[in-house]
Amino acid sequence: MPLYTEQQLTIYNSITGKKEPFESLLEGYVGMYVCGPTVYSNVHLGNVRTFMSFDMIFRYLKHLGYKVRYVRNITDAGHLTDDADEGEDKIAKKARLEKIEPMEVVQQYTVDFHNILNKFNFLPPSIEPTATGHIIEQIELIKKIIVNGYAYEKNGSVYFDVVKFNKDHEYGKLSGRKLEDMIANTRALTSQSEKENPQDFALWKKAEPQHIMRWPSPWGDGFPGWHLECTAMSTKYLGEQFDIHGGGMDLKFPHHECEIAQNEAALGKEPVKYWMHANMLTLNGQKMAKSTGNSINPGEIFTGESKHLTKGFAPSVARFFILQTSYRSIMDFSNDALLASEKGFNRLMEALKIAKSLQTSNKSTFDVAAWKQSCYNAMNDDFNTPILIAHLFDGVKQIHLVKDGKVELTENDLKLLINTMNAFVFDVLGLENGDAFAKADDSKLNGTVELLIKLRKEARENKDFALSDKIRDELIELGIQLKDGREGTTFTVN
Ligand code: AMP
Ligand code: ZN
Repeated sequence: MPLYTEQQLTIYNSITGKKEPFESLLEGYVGMYVCGPTVYSNVHLGNVRTFMSFDMIFRYLKHLGYKVRYVRNITDAGHLTDDADEGEDKIAKKARLEKIEPMEVVQQYTVDFHNILNKFNFLPPSIEPTATGHIIEQIELIKKIIVNGYAYEKNGSVYFDVVKFNKDHEYGKLSGRKLEDMIANTRALTSQSEKENPQDFALWKKAEPQHIMRWPSPWGDGFPGWHLECTAMSTKYLGEQFDIHGGGMDLKFPHHECEIAQNEAALGKEPVKYWMHANMLTLNGQKMAKSTGNSINPGEIFTGESKHLTKGFAPSVARFFILQTSYRSIMDFSNDALLASEKGFNRLMEALKIAKSLQTSNKSTFDVAAWKQSCYNAMNDDFNTPILIAHLFDGVKQIHLVKDGKVELTENDLKLLINTMNAFVFDVLGLENGDAFAKADDSKLNGTVELLIKLRKEARENKDFALSDKIRDELIELGIQLKDGREGTTFTVN
């Protein structure tokens, strides 16, 4: 029986404003789409936080035994500097300023994005599609929306008719806005505007002669509107209806609202069962954003070269720090909080090491099974990582109590405690013991000591006690202690 049948997950659904039991559309399978980065600049820690929330969610869904198809796109065209469909394409603007090809901008920052995410031990998504790779799908969607009467063409551009759509549907249901209020609060359109109503948004924009990023279409050369790519790519890879759609809170409106409208207008269906929005990382109480300069790059965290930091921190410490706040709460970045997280992280890793060499008893005085269930309860409650981490620290406390002889555990309970800690710490939270290099070294060291343990065992079996003692003693000199137990020989490194 897969774990998800025993562990009922609940998810806070942004569209209903309630925590709901999670039931996937197809038993055992989950389709999840998350809006990816616009690759015109280096990612900052705020972007990383949002993607990390969904990496943790992806990991827990997999841990529960679901087969997850996780689609996270790369926006490499169509995202304008201005939400009102004016302004320049962000990537084209960067290319113009740096005098390089737009695709060079895309390549440079896509590589940077992947490098950073690798450092933080992210799992790669199942599919990472690009907007420019799905122009045909986007054009096909526009054609459907026009045929269904919810879009109009003007001078080579195509706009979504929000007012018409709102007559038969509900525009604003995700963000809780009412179209009448939006209209009342917006200035009238200028005479040059091609839009019939200020709330209308671009599905396709005509490319002016100087615009490099352009594709042919039934309406002339142009480029797709930003919202459209996510509708095209999510439905292509996950179907017209799918389980989870995620992104940062700031994408709720207009981006996700427009996605819902496009889906309903083109395909006649509400696309998403559970909408999930990750909250913002702030710095000095203000949203972290590249455009205002109020941001920290992950590279600065690793080296400590920032006016906001007193030292550098390992990626896993920063990951631990981020996951200590629920993904739905605002989180303020601070050096002190990172220092505290580093202490906590080290305590957790140390306890996992100690746990390997604990003495067991014939009875348990701590209820490991109940503790394990409380870890699941925390995650089942809308991925509540801070509560999970509090329970993991209870595990740390028990490990020290066993070490000090104040708590007893049977061999099976100790195994259960260690396995549960490992599963949550490494698989679900995605932490790594030390940095990636230390981990590689660790595995080499482990392999080497295991080999020596095997040779020592063979020497003993051959009654060559001189050799077996020599192996043990020389390892002690190197700070490696062998311990013979019922289950075989284990070792600790000082
Ligand atoms: P962008 O590349 O600007 O489209 O942003 C990529 C993702 O990062 C989106 O899901 C944004 O909502 C998210 N994001 C942007 N700023 C922050 C922030 N300060 N904290 C958390 N997430 C953010
Ligand atoms: Zn999107």
